[in-house]
Amino acid sequence: MKLKSLAIAMTVAGAIGGTASAQEQSFISIGTGGVTGVYYPAGGAICRLVNKNRQETGIRCSVESTGGSIYNINTLRAGELEFGVAQSDWQFHAYNGTSKFEEQGPFEDLRAVFSLHPEPVTILARRDANISNITDIPGKRFNIGNAGSGTQGTWEVIEEAFGWQRSDLALASEMKSAETAGALCDNKIDGYFWLVGHPSGLTQETIASCDAVIVPAVAPEIDALIEANPYYRYATIPGGMYPGNPDDIQTFGVGATVVTSANVSEEAVYQVAMAVLGNLDDFRKLHPAFANLKAEEMIADSLSAPLHPGAIRAYRELGLMD
Ligand code: GLU
Repeated sequence: MKLKSLAIAMTVAGAIGGTASAQEQSFISIGTGGVTGVYYPAGGAICRLVNKNRQETGIRCSVESTGGSIYNINTLRAGELEFGVAQSDWQFHAYNGTSKFEEQGPFEDLRAVFSLHPEPVTILARRDANISNITDIPGKRFNIGNAGSGTQGTWEVIEEAFGWQRSDLALASEMKSAETAGALCDNKIDGYFWLVGHPSGLTQETIASCDAVIVPAVAPEIDALIEANPYYRYATIPGGMYPGNPDDIQTFGVGATVVTSANVSEEAVYQVAMAVLGNLDDFRKLHPAFANLKAEEMIADSLSAPLHPGAIRAYRELGLMD
């Protein structure tokens, strides 16, 4: 009897849903970053909105914690991820085949979807380490970011801009972001750095666990970097955002962006773009770093790869684009 009613229920469901939707289930993954960063909750927020429509669209979105920007771009290029979050500087270099991507050559199929929050260079230091500007870092024990992170890539650019060698650091560690607060508070390192949105979980965790300060990045070498590269801009981490750090912190940074590949279907990209830009008020509430996002900026700023046609379709439908 039970079996029979199940069979009937299945027939009814089949008739309502139609056979096509059952066959057209598709899975998309978004590569993000460490769990205490902003990329990971950003991926979670995107998937949450995409998955709300999964009955109609057949698209099931999942988030992966990864090593960060450069890992995400390389994995997208290998066809093992459908979407990734990436710093705007590394989006630029991947598409153009410059800097770290020179050997691989341009990733011509890289496509932009939208940009997210600003990511200032964020240097955290033990108060007793006497680091009061980026220029005080040589001679210190410092975490430069894990391999595959956009952070480590940008550290190399900073080193070159100042003419520093890796050996100028007393210790150059390459821990993942999630490990750095513990290392700093256990006095294993004097400072760490990363490019991240604010407020971020890791910054909060560090400042709550020990006496840590956020350090400015102000120098003529930084001015020259901003002058020479379209993807860098001056940035300020607002005073008072974190306890014990009452003053505005002058620094510079990039933008976080969501990228995909030309090989990902127009429908999947359309659904992702629509889920976020079509529900921007809801999206903004899903993380405090998204509070100031503006649609006009998200579809244009910090994007150097061409927009995917699925994203263009969504932005036209939403009246954001001609
Ligand atoms: N911008 C960082 C990176 O690519 C990741 C920041 C985050 O996880 O929020 O290295």
